[in-house]
Amino acid sequence: MLDIKWVREHAGLVQTVADRKKIRLSVAKLLEWDERRRELLQRIEPLRQARNQRSQAISGLIREGRADEAEAGKAEVRELGLQLSGLETELAEAELACNQLLLLVPNIVSPDTPEGLSDEDNVEVRSTGAQPVFAFAPRDHVALGELHDMIDIPRGVKTGGSRSYYLKGAGVLLHRAVQQLALDLLLHKGFTPLEVPLMVRTEALTSTGFFPLGQDQVYRIDGGETWLAGTSEAALISYYSNEIVDLSAPRLLAAASQCFRSEVGSAGRDVHGLYRVHQFAKVEQVVLCEADPDLAESLLQAITRNAEELLRLLELPYRVMAVCTGDMSQKTYKQYDIETWMPSRQNYGETHSSSNLLDFQARRSNIRYRDAQGRLRFCYTLNNTAVASPRILIPLLETHQQEDGSVRIPPALRPYMNGLELLVPGA
Ligand code: AMP
Repeated sequence: MLDIKWVREHAGLVQTVADRKKIRLSVAKLLEWDERRRELLQRIEPLRQARNQRSQAISGLIREGRADEAEAGKAEVRELGLQLSGLETELAEAELACNQLLLLVPNIVSPDTPEGLSDEDNVEVRSTGAQPVFAFAPRDHVALGELHDMIDIPRGVKTGGSRSYYLKGAGVLLHRAVQQLALDLLLHKGFTPLEVPLMVRTEALTSTGFFPLGQDQVYRIDGGETWLAGTSEAALISYYSNEIVDLSAPRLLAAASQCFRSEVGSAGRDVHGLYRVHQFAKVEQVVLCEADPDLAESLLQAITRNAEELLRLLELPYRVMAVCTGDMSQKTYKQYDIETWMPSRQNYGETHSSSNLLDFQARRSNIRYRDAQGRLRFCYTLNNTAVASPRILIPLLETHQQEDGSVRIPPALRPYMNGLELLVPGA
Protein backbone atom coordinates (compact mmCIF):
# COMPACT_ATOMS: atom_id res chain seq x y z
CA MET A 1 0.00 0.00 0.00
CA LEU A 2 1.26 3.44 -0.80
CA ASP A 3 0.81 6.33 1.59
CA ILE A 4 -2.37 8.25 0.59
CA LYS A 5 -0.50 11.55 0.94
CA TRP A 6 2.09 10.26 -1.53
CA VAL A 7 -0.69 9.09 -3.89
CA ARG A 8 -2.26 12.57 -3.75
CA GLU A 9 1.04 14.14 -4.73
CA HIS A 10 1.83 11.59 -7.47
CA ALA A 11 -1.65 10.80 -8.84
CA GLY A 12 -0.54 10.79 -12.50
CA LEU A 13 2.34 8.40 -11.86
CA VAL A 14 0.18 6.03 -9.80
CA GLN A 15 -2.48 5.92 -12.54
CA THR A 16 0.19 5.20 -15.17
CA VAL A 17 1.65 2.32 -13.12
CA ALA A 18 -1.84 0.91 -12.45
CA ASP A 19 -2.56 0.99 -16.19
CA ARG A 20 0.78 -0.65 -17.02
CA LYS A 21 0.19 -3.36 -14.42
CA LYS A 22 -3.33 -3.83 -15.84
CA ILE A 23 -5.04 -2.97 -12.57
CA ARG A 24 -8.51 -1.51 -12.91
CA LEU A 25 -8.24 1.49 -10.65
CA SER A 26 -9.33 5.10 -11.05
CA VAL A 27 -6.94 7.19 -8.99
CA ALA A 28 -9.25 10.18 -9.58
CA LYS A 29 -12.11 8.27 -7.92
CA LEU A 30 -9.87 7.34 -4.99
CA LEU A 31 -8.86 10.96 -4.52
CA GLU A 32 -12.50 12.10 -4.73
CA TRP A 33 -13.37 9.76 -1.84
CA ASP A 34 -10.27 10.85 0.02
CA GLU A 35 -11.28 14.49 -0.41
CA ARG A 36 -14.82 13.69 0.76
CA ARG A 37 -13.43 11.83 3.80
CA ARG A 38 -11.21 14.74 4.78
CA GLU A 39 -13.99 17.28 4.25
CA LEU A 40 -16.34 15.24 6.47
CA LEU A 41 -13.69 14.96 9.15
CA GLN A 42 -13.31 18.75 9.11
CA ARG A 43 -17.04 19.18 9.62
CA ILE A 44 -17.30 16.46 12.25
CA GLU A 45 -14.44 17.58 14.48
CA PRO A 46 -15.93 20.99 15.58
CA LEU A 47 -19.34 19.38 16.11
CA ARG A 48 -17.77 16.75 18.39
CA GLN A 49 -15.99 19.45 20.34
CA ALA A 50 -19.19 21.51 20.66
CA ARG A 51 -21.13 18.46 21.88
CA ASN A 52 -18.49 17.67 24.51
CA GLN A 53 -18.40 21.28 25.72
CA ARG A 54 -22.20 21.45 25.96
CA SER A 55 -22.32 18.13 27.83
CA GLN A 56 -19.79 19.38 30.35
CA ALA A 57 -21.72 22.65 30.75
CA ILE A 58 -24.96 20.68 31.37
CA SER A 59 -23.26 18.74 34.18
CA GLY A 60 -22.29 22.10 35.74
CA LEU A 61 -25.84 23.46 35.40
CA ILE A 62 -27.28 20.33 37.03
CA ARG A 63 -24.80 20.62 39.92
CA GLU A 64 -25.87 24.25 40.37
CA GLY A 65 -29.59 23.23 40.33
CA ARG A 66 -30.36 25.17 37.11
CA ALA A 67 -32.66 22.45 35.73
CA ASP A 68 -34.45 24.54 33.04
CA GLU A 69 -31.20 25.70 31.49
CA ALA A 70 -29.86 22.13 31.67
CA GLU A 71 -32.95 20.84 29.78
CA ALA A 72 -32.47 23.44 27.03
CA GLY A 73 -28.81 22.39 26.82
CA LYS A 74 -29.80 18.73 26.53
CA ALA A 75 -32.03 19.49 23.53
CA GLU A 76 -29.12 21.25 21.88
CA VAL A 77 -26.83 18.23 22.55
CA ARG A 78 -29.46 15.91 21.05
CA GLU A 79 -29.61 18.08 17.93
CA LEU A 80 -25.79 18.03 17.66
CA GLY A 81 -25.88 14.24 18.15
CA LEU A 82 -28.32 13.85 15.26
CA GLN A 83 -26.19 15.99 12.96
CA LEU A 84 -23.10 14.04 13.98
CA SER A 85 -24.59 10.62 13.44
CA GLY A 86 -25.65 11.58 9.88
CA LEU A 87 -22.18 12.85 9.10
CA GLU A 88 -20.51 9.86 10.76
CA THR A 89 -22.52 7.49 8.56
CA GLU A 90 -21.31 9.41 5.52
CA LEU A 91 -17.76 9.32 6.87
CA ALA A 92 -17.88 5.53 7.36
CA GLU A 93 -19.06 5.16 3.75
CA ALA A 94 -16.27 7.43 2.46
CA GLU A 95 -13.64 5.63 4.54
CA LEU A 96 -14.77 2.24 3.29
CA ALA A 97 -14.70 3.36 -0.35
CA CYS A 98 -11.32 5.01 0.19
CA ASN A 99 -9.79 1.95 1.85
CA GLN A 100 -11.16 -0.43 -0.78
CA LEU A 101 -9.64 1.65 -3.58
CA LEU A 102 -6.40 2.15 -1.66
CA LEU A 103 -6.00 -1.64 -1.54
CA LEU A 104 -5.86 -1.62 -5.36
CA VAL A 105 -3.11 0.99 -5.60
CA PRO A 106 -0.02 -0.65 -7.12
CA ASN A 107 3.53 -0.35 -5.95
CA ILE A 108 5.59 1.86 -8.21
CA VAL A 109 8.16 0.17 -10.44
CA SER A 110 11.93 0.58 -10.47
CA PRO A 111 13.40 2.84 -13.16
CA ASP A 112 15.26 -0.14 -14.69
CA THR A 113 12.09 -2.24 -15.09
CA PRO A 114 11.47 -2.92 -18.81
CA GLU A 115 8.27 -1.57 -20.29
CA GLY A 116 6.01 -4.28 -21.70
CA LEU A 117 2.63 -5.98 -21.83
CA SER A 118 3.34 -9.62 -21.01
CA ASP A 119 6.07 -12.14 -20.23
CA GLU A 120 7.02 -12.01 -23.91
CA ASP A 121 8.44 -8.54 -23.23
CA ASN A 122 10.66 -9.67 -20.35
CA VAL A 123 14.33 -9.03 -21.03
CA GLU A 124 17.13 -11.55 -20.61
CA VAL A 125 19.79 -10.34 -18.18
CA ARG A 126 22.13 -13.34 -18.30
CA SER A 127 22.10 -17.05 -19.11
CA THR A 128 24.25 -19.90 -17.89
CA GLY A 129 24.85 -23.48 -18.99
CA ALA A 130 24.60 -25.12 -22.40
CA GLN A 131 21.30 -26.58 -23.51
CA PRO A 132 21.69 -30.38 -23.72
CA VAL A 133 22.06 -32.00 -27.12
CA PHE A 134 20.82 -35.58 -27.23
CA ALA A 135 22.17 -38.19 -29.63
CA PHE A 136 18.88 -40.09 -29.20
CA ALA A 137 15.18 -39.21 -29.05
CA PRO A 138 14.83 -37.82 -25.54
CA ARG A 139 11.80 -38.67 -23.40
CA ASP A 140 9.77 -36.01 -21.65
CA HIS A 141 9.36 -36.06 -17.86
CA VAL A 142 5.99 -37.80 -18.09
CA ALA A 143 7.46 -40.69 -20.11
CA LEU A 144 10.49 -40.85 -17.81
CA GLY A 145 8.18 -40.76 -14.80
CA GLU A 146 6.18 -43.71 -16.18
CA LEU A 147 9.31 -45.62 -17.12
CA HIS A 148 10.64 -45.31 -13.55
CA ASP A 149 7.18 -45.67 -12.00
CA MET A 150 7.75 -42.40 -10.14
CA ILE A 151 5.18 -39.99 -11.64
CA ASP A 152 1.57 -41.09 -12.05
CA ILE A 153 -0.68 -38.45 -13.52
CA PRO A 154 -3.68 -40.62 -14.55
CA ARG A 155 -4.09 -41.91 -11.00
CA GLY A 156 -3.54 -38.36 -9.65
CA VAL A 157 -6.41 -37.11 -11.82
CA LYS A 158 -8.54 -40.11 -10.80
CA THR A 159 -8.12 -39.14 -7.15
CA GLY A 160 -7.63 -35.37 -7.11
CA GLY A 161 -9.11 -34.16 -10.40
CA SER A 162 -7.33 -32.21 -13.12
CA ARG A 163 -3.77 -30.97 -12.50
CA SER A 164 -3.24 -33.62 -9.80
CA TYR A 165 -0.50 -36.23 -9.65
CA TYR A 166 1.14 -38.88 -7.55
CA LEU A 167 4.88 -39.05 -6.98
CA LYS A 168 6.16 -42.48 -6.08
CA GLY A 169 9.42 -44.15 -5.10
CA ALA A 170 12.38 -42.26 -6.56
CA GLY A 171 9.99 -39.43 -7.51
CA VAL A 172 9.30 -38.79 -3.84
CA LEU A 173 13.00 -38.99 -2.99
CA LEU A 174 13.88 -36.48 -5.71
CA HIS A 175 11.01 -34.15 -4.70
CA ARG A 176 12.22 -34.13 -1.10
CA ALA A 177 15.91 -34.06 -2.05
CA VAL A 178 15.66 -30.82 -4.03
CA GLN A 179 13.79 -29.17 -1.16
CA GLN A 180 16.29 -30.29 1.47
CA LEU A 181 19.22 -29.23 -0.72
CA ALA A 182 17.60 -25.79 -1.11
CA LEU A 183 16.86 -25.49 2.60
CA ASP A 184 20.41 -26.50 3.55
CA LEU A 185 21.81 -23.97 1.09
CA LEU A 186 19.74 -21.23 2.75
CA LEU A 187 20.65 -22.38 6.29
CA HIS A 188 24.28 -22.15 5.26
CA LYS A 189 23.65 -18.53 4.23
CA GLY A 190 22.13 -17.58 7.58
CA PHE A 191 18.42 -18.00 6.85
CA THR A 192 16.15 -19.01 9.74
CA PRO A 193 13.80 -21.85 8.77
CA LEU A 194 10.13 -21.69 9.78
CA GLU A 195 7.33 -24.22 9.52
CA VAL A 196 4.38 -21.97 8.67
CA PRO A 197 0.56 -22.12 8.81
CA LEU A 198 -0.82 -23.44 5.53
CA MET A 199 -4.24 -22.09 6.39
CA VAL A 200 -4.09 -18.31 6.51
CA ARG A 201 -6.61 -15.62 7.30
CA THR A 202 -8.03 -13.05 4.88
CA GLU A 203 -6.23 -10.37 6.85
CA ALA A 204 -2.80 -11.96 6.30
CA LEU A 205 -3.41 -12.29 2.56
CA THR A 206 -4.69 -8.72 2.30
CA SER A 207 -1.87 -7.21 4.30
CA THR A 208 0.76 -9.03 2.23
CA GLY A 209 -0.80 -7.78 -1.01
CA PHE A 210 -2.27 -11.05 -2.35
CA PHE A 211 -5.83 -9.83 -1.76
CA PRO A 212 -8.10 -8.44 -3.00
CA LEU A 213 -6.73 -8.90 -6.53
CA GLY A 214 -5.55 -12.51 -6.20
CA GLN A 215 -8.55 -13.81 -4.29
CA ASP A 216 -9.61 -16.16 -7.09
CA GLN A 217 -6.18 -17.80 -7.10
CA VAL A 218 -6.54 -19.48 -3.71
CA TYR A 219 -8.95 -21.94 -2.15
CA ARG A 220 -11.32 -20.76 0.55
CA ILE A 221 -11.89 -23.08 3.46
CA ASP A 222 -15.50 -23.68 4.40
CA GLY A 223 -16.63 -20.37 2.88
CA GLY A 224 -15.05 -18.62 5.86
CA GLU A 225 -12.20 -16.22 6.47
CA THR A 226 -9.42 -18.80 6.12
CA TRP A 227 -7.70 -19.86 2.92
CA LEU A 228 -5.23 -22.52 1.77
CA ALA A 229 -1.98 -20.66 1.24
CA GLY A 230 -0.70 -20.34 -2.34
CA THR A 231 2.78 -19.57 -0.99
CA SER A 232 4.49 -19.36 2.39
CA GLU A 233 5.40 -15.72 1.62
CA ALA A 234 2.19 -14.46 3.25
CA ALA A 235 2.83 -16.40 6.45
CA LEU A 236 6.52 -15.46 6.58
CA ILE A 237 5.80 -11.75 6.25
CA SER A 238 2.80 -11.89 8.57
CA TYR A 239 4.99 -13.43 11.27
CA TYR A 240 6.04 -9.83 12.02
CA SER A 241 2.75 -8.02 11.29
CA ASN A 242 1.93 -5.18 13.70
CA GLU A 243 5.37 -5.47 15.27
CA ILE A 244 8.46 -3.35 15.65
CA VAL A 245 11.36 -5.48 14.46
CA ASP A 246 15.07 -5.17 15.15
CA LEU A 247 16.58 -4.76 11.69
CA SER A 248 20.15 -3.96 12.67
CA ALA A 249 20.82 -6.89 10.34
CA PRO A 250 18.38 -8.03 7.62
CA ARG A 251 16.00 -10.81 8.70
CA LEU A 252 16.46 -13.84 6.45
CA LEU A 253 13.56 -16.29 6.64
CA ALA A 254 12.97 -19.57 4.82
CA ALA A 255 10.08 -22.00 4.71
CA ALA A 256 9.43 -25.28 2.94
CA SER A 257 5.71 -25.61 2.48
CA GLN A 258 2.93 -27.02 0.39
CA CYS A 259 1.28 -24.43 -1.86
CA PHE A 260 -2.24 -24.63 -3.24
CA ARG A 261 -3.37 -22.67 -6.28
CA SER A 262 -6.63 -22.65 -8.17
CA GLU A 263 -4.87 -21.52 -11.37
CA VAL A 264 -8.08 -19.81 -12.44
CA GLY A 265 -7.43 -18.14 -15.77
CA SER A 266 -4.91 -20.73 -16.93
CA ALA A 267 -7.46 -23.22 -18.28
CA GLY A 268 -5.98 -25.05 -21.22
CA ARG A 269 -2.49 -23.63 -20.58
CA ASP A 270 0.42 -25.93 -19.55
CA VAL A 271 -1.89 -28.90 -19.13
CA HIS A 272 0.81 -31.46 -19.94
CA GLY A 273 2.65 -33.12 -17.08
CA LEU A 274 3.82 -31.45 -13.89
CA TYR A 275 4.30 -27.87 -15.07
CA ARG A 276 1.14 -26.26 -13.71
CA VAL A 277 -0.52 -28.16 -10.90
CA HIS A 278 -2.88 -27.28 -8.04
CA GLN A 279 -0.60 -28.48 -5.26
CA PHE A 280 3.16 -28.23 -5.10
CA ALA A 281 5.98 -27.73 -2.63
CA LYS A 282 8.10 -24.61 -2.46
CA VAL A 283 11.12 -23.54 -0.47
CA GLU A 284 10.79 -19.78 -0.19
CA GLN A 285 13.22 -17.03 0.79
CA VAL A 286 11.85 -13.91 2.47
CA VAL A 287 13.91 -10.94 3.62
CA LEU A 288 13.03 -7.94 5.77
CA CYS A 289 15.50 -5.06 5.83
CA GLU A 290 15.81 -1.39 6.64
CA ALA A 291 14.21 1.06 4.20
CA ASP A 292 17.41 1.56 2.23
CA PRO A 293 17.02 1.21 -1.57
CA ASP A 294 20.69 0.27 -2.12
CA LEU A 295 20.56 -2.39 0.59
CA ALA A 296 17.32 -3.80 -0.85
CA GLU A 297 18.83 -3.90 -4.34
CA SER A 298 21.89 -5.81 -3.08
CA LEU A 299 19.62 -8.24 -1.21
CA LEU A 300 17.53 -8.76 -4.37
CA GLN A 301 20.73 -9.68 -6.20
CA ALA A 302 21.74 -11.98 -3.31
CA ILE A 303 18.46 -13.92 -3.15
CA THR A 304 18.49 -14.22 -6.95
CA ARG A 305 22.03 -15.59 -6.79
CA ASN A 306 20.97 -18.10 -4.13
CA ALA A 307 18.48 -19.60 -6.58
CA GLU A 308 21.07 -19.55 -9.35
CA GLU A 309 23.50 -21.38 -7.09
CA LEU A 310 20.92 -24.10 -6.56
CA LEU A 311 20.37 -24.44 -10.30
CA ARG A 312 24.12 -24.74 -10.85
CA LEU A 313 24.25 -27.45 -8.18
CA LEU A 314 21.51 -29.24 -10.09
CA GLU A 315 23.58 -28.71 -13.29
CA LEU A 316 20.65 -27.09 -15.11
CA PRO A 317 20.94 -24.38 -17.78
CA TYR A 318 18.93 -21.28 -16.96
CA ARG A 319 18.47 -17.63 -17.77
CA VAL A 320 17.59 -14.65 -15.60
CA MET A 321 14.88 -12.36 -16.96
CA ALA A 322 14.09 -8.79 -15.95
CA VAL A 323 10.29 -8.87 -15.63
CA CYS A 324 8.42 -6.12 -17.47
CA THR A 325 5.68 -3.88 -16.06
CA GLY A 326 2.79 -5.80 -17.66
CA ASP A 327 3.98 -9.11 -16.17
CA MET A 328 4.46 -7.73 -12.65
CA SER A 329 2.09 -8.11 -9.76
CA GLN A 330 0.52 -5.18 -7.93
CA LYS A 331 2.96 -5.38 -5.04
CA THR A 332 6.23 -5.64 -6.95
CA TYR A 333 8.76 -2.83 -7.42
CA LYS A 334 11.39 -4.86 -9.25
CA GLN A 335 11.36 -8.50 -10.32
CA TYR A 336 13.56 -11.14 -11.90
CA ASP A 337 12.24 -14.47 -13.06
CA ILE A 338 14.63 -17.36 -13.47
CA GLU A 339 13.73 -19.69 -16.29
CA THR A 340 15.25 -23.14 -16.54
CA TRP A 341 15.76 -24.99 -19.82
CA MET A 342 13.11 -27.68 -20.28
CA PRO A 343 14.07 -30.01 -23.16
CA SER A 344 10.51 -31.27 -23.82
CA ARG A 345 9.26 -27.70 -24.20
CA GLN A 346 12.33 -26.80 -26.27
CA ASN A 347 12.21 -23.63 -24.27
CA TYR A 348 12.95 -22.09 -20.92
CA GLY A 349 10.18 -22.32 -18.31
CA GLU A 350 9.80 -20.15 -15.21
CA THR A 351 11.07 -21.88 -12.09
CA HIS A 352 11.83 -18.95 -9.75
CA SER A 353 10.53 -15.46 -9.13
CA SER A 354 12.58 -12.90 -7.21
CA SER A 355 11.05 -9.60 -6.07
CA ASN A 356 11.81 -6.40 -4.22
CA LEU A 357 8.64 -4.83 -2.78
CA LEU A 358 10.13 -1.82 -0.97
CA ASP A 359 7.76 -0.93 1.92
CA PHE A 360 4.54 -1.96 0.11
CA GLN A 361 3.90 -5.06 2.24
CA ALA A 362 5.28 -3.54 5.44
CA ARG A 363 2.82 -0.62 5.26
CA ARG A 364 -0.13 -2.93 4.79
CA SER A 365 1.18 -5.33 7.45
CA ASN A 366 2.32 -2.53 9.75
CA ILE A 367 5.87 -3.83 10.21
CA ARG A 368 8.24 -1.17 11.47
CA TYR A 369 11.75 -0.76 12.85
CA ARG A 370 13.67 2.05 14.54
CA ASP A 371 16.25 3.71 12.32
CA ALA A 372 19.61 5.06 13.54
CA GLN A 373 17.88 8.28 14.67
CA GLY A 374 15.32 6.31 16.67
CA ARG A 375 12.46 7.10 14.27
CA LEU A 376 9.90 4.41 13.52
CA ARG A 377 9.88 3.47 9.82
CA PHE A 378 8.25 0.84 7.66
CA CYS A 379 10.78 -1.80 6.55
CA TYR A 380 11.39 -3.19 3.05
CA THR A 381 10.56 -6.78 2.09
CA LEU A 382 11.85 -9.12 -0.62
CA ASN A 383 11.20 -12.69 -1.63
CA ASN A 384 12.36 -15.38 -4.01
CA THR A 385 11.76 -19.03 -4.66
CA ALA A 386 14.66 -21.27 -3.60
CA VAL A 387 13.10 -24.25 -5.33
CA ALA A 388 9.59 -25.32 -6.36
CA SER A 389 8.85 -28.98 -6.96
CA PRO A 390 7.57 -30.89 -8.88
CA ARG A 391 8.12 -28.23 -11.59
CA ILE A 392 11.89 -28.43 -11.14
CA LEU A 393 11.70 -32.21 -11.72
CA ILE A 394 10.86 -31.44 -15.36
CA PRO A 395 14.30 -30.04 -16.27
CA LEU A 396 16.03 -32.29 -13.76
CA LEU A 397 14.76 -35.55 -15.25
CA GLU A 398 14.77 -34.42 -18.86
CA THR A 399 18.24 -32.83 -18.83
CA HIS A 400 20.02 -35.67 -17.06
CA GLN A 401 18.40 -38.59 -18.92
CA GLN A 402 20.47 -41.14 -20.82
CA GLU A 403 19.59 -43.14 -23.89
CA ASP A 404 18.49 -46.21 -21.90
CA GLY A 405 16.08 -44.07 -19.86
CA SER A 406 18.30 -43.94 -16.78
CA VAL A 407 18.71 -40.55 -15.12
CA ARG A 408 21.97 -39.26 -13.71
CA ILE A 409 21.70 -37.69 -10.25
CA PRO A 410 23.87 -34.57 -9.93
CA PRO A 411 26.49 -35.03 -7.16
CA ALA A 412 24.96 -32.27 -4.97
CA LEU A 413 21.72 -34.27 -4.71
CA ARG A 414 23.28 -37.65 -3.98
CA PRO A 415 23.64 -37.18 -0.20
CA TYR A 416 19.85 -36.62 -0.14
CA MET A 417 19.22 -39.69 -2.31
CA ASN A 418 21.00 -42.28 -0.17
CA GLY A 419 24.09 -41.85 -2.31
CA LEU A 420 22.27 -42.89 -5.49
CA GLU A 421 24.18 -41.82 -8.62
CA LEU A 422 21.85 -43.12 -11.30
CA LEU A 423 18.14 -43.86 -11.46
CA VAL A 424 17.82 -47.05 -13.46
CA PRO A 425 14.41 -48.05 -14.85
CA GLY A 426 13.01 -51.09 -13.07
CA ALA A 427 15.75 -51.05 -10.41
P1 AMP B 1 5.38 -17.59 -7.38
O1 AMP B 1 5.26 -17.90 -5.93
O2 AMP B 1 4.06 -17.39 -8.08
O3 AMP B 1 6.37 -16.50 -7.67
O4 AMP B 1 5.96 -18.91 -8.06
C1 AMP B 1 7.21 -19.38 -7.71
C2 AMP B 1 7.49 -20.67 -8.41
O5 AMP B 1 6.58 -21.66 -7.95
C3 AMP B 1 7.30 -20.64 -9.91
O6 AMP B 1 8.40 -20.10 -10.57
C4 AMP B 1 7.14 -22.12 -10.19
O7 AMP B 1 8.37 -22.79 -10.16
C5 AMP B 1 6.33 -22.58 -8.98
N1 AMP B 1 4.89 -22.59 -9.28
C6 AMP B 1 4.03 -21.56 -9.24
N2 AMP B 1 2.78 -21.95 -9.56
C7 AMP B 1 2.86 -23.26 -9.84
C8 AMP B 1 1.92 -24.24 -10.23
N3 AMP B 1 0.62 -23.95 -10.40
N4 AMP B 1 2.35 -25.51 -10.44
C9 AMP B 1 3.63 -25.83 -10.24
N5 AMP B 1 4.57 -24.95 -9.86
C10 AMP B 1 4.20 -23.68 -9.66
